Amino acid sequence: MRPMKKLSLVACIVGLAGAFGLAQSRGPSGAVVFEGARLVIGNASAPIEYGALVVENGRITAVGRKGAVRAPAGAAHVDLDGKTVMPAMINVHVHIGYEGYTSWGAANHTPQNVLDHLQREAFYGVGATQSVGSSPTEPSLQFQKDQQAGKFPPASRFFFMPGMAPPGGGPDAVLREATTPLHVINEVSTAQEARAAVQAMAAKRIPQVKIWVDDRRGTYPKMTPEVYNAVIDEAHKHRMLVNAHATTLPDQKAVVRAGADVIVHVVQGENVDDELLALVRAKKPYWATVIGLGDRTEVCEKDPFFEEALPASIVASIRATTTPRPLAPSCGPPNPNAARREEILSNNLQKMIAAGARLVLGTDTGIHAGHTFGTGDHHELARWVQLGLTPADAIVAATSRPAELLGIADMGTLAAGKSADFIVLNANPLDDIRNTRTIASVYLGGRKLDRDALRAGWHTAGSSQ
Ligand SMILES: [Zn+2]
Repeated sequence: MRPMKKLSLVACIVGLAGAFGLAQSRGPSGAVVFEGARLVIGNASAPIEYGALVVENGRITAVGRKGAVRAPAGAAHVDLDGKTVMPAMINVHVHIGYEGYTSWGAANHTPQNVLDHLQREAFYGVGATQSVGSSPTEPSLQFQKDQQAGKFPPASRFFFMPGMAPPGGGPDAVLREATTPLHVINEVSTAQEARAAVQAMAAKRIPQVKIWVDDRRGTYPKMTPEVYNAVIDEAHKHRMLVNAHATTLPDQKAVVRAGADVIVHVVQGENVDDELLALVRAKKPYWATVIGLGDRTEVCEKDPFFEEALPASIVASIRATTTPRPLAPSCGPPNPNAARREEILSNNLQKMIAAGARLVLGTDTGIHAGHTFGTGDHHELARWVQLGLTPADAIVAATSRPAELLGIADMGTLAAGKSADFIVLNANPLDDIRNTRTIASVYLGGRKLDRDALRAGWHTAGSSQ
């Protein structure tokens, strides 16, 4: 057990709160003008070169070209010449709480560990993070309430949704084992049970639900059309959105046809066909591709960006693992089917997007031990671009579009009225999407995140194990 876990949550928060100060001294008006950076807005509009961003009381109050934006009298100035600013990212698909970096499972699922994972996301520039289907409802609602009340130090904003599956179905074996003691998965066999479960969620004002429609190559019970049609129908009656885990061509067709709002995963091992594309064209679902989960981890490439939030022991163990493990990071030789997989991914990504699938950032981080919260986000963006997307479109799929999906009105773009949640980069991601990794600083609610303190805390925790 790492030392932090021995502290009470309150002690932990008090200790960490000292690590976060004001970004810089502010002028009498409390306003700060960030000047000189290229501003990547986060929607389809062109970037603003030599921009100015005015922040007051945690909100953006003006955005424009330097010189064209009037700063309030007495505003402090921050010179960002040569930098690029983009909105904080939003990850719509992770599994928070079970990773402990030296242990894994339900015992780790405490508010302080959820907070730790959200701080890791924030460290990497992710301002909102949604845990999908694997978070216990009551503690998660409480965590959200506490976070909104300002009880925690700065971290990625927490979102979650409950999950539904047939008895014995749902997530893969490792995540099932973690979630079972907490009774997280709503197990339903009939349309009536499905509707009742959705109604209970709606009564708690939970805006989304996840369903698993996957028999894991015949090893799991499969959710029947009767059940998922009932879930979707009932959810829509309550204005809730349904996220559907579906990994085969027939399953993706079935859930899109049934009206699922978000498809999770890509069709695996085969090209999409005209029938699926016609359904996508008609329904325009959101789509969390979660491609990175099937990739060799970048920890193998000895890139410090992927190591800095991981204990050295975990990095060493991933590098020493040379036999591929499903869903877990390893550093074996490249998959012999890699070239074929790339061809299918590239074909499917481009055709699905051309048909109108609304791409959103999701990573499945935390589904299995050994992933780092936050790095997968940058990996996923780079993969999209490698597979044919433009960097500008990749940034939209990581900022304004997930904000729209989650209904986060004050995030997703650099615009007046939004929360001042943004990333300052040393290089331009529109030139090379891998430049999202050149993070100089992260601001949440107008305050600079103390990334050095966070990094130091993780290293102390890691080295004492
Ligand atoms: Zn997942």
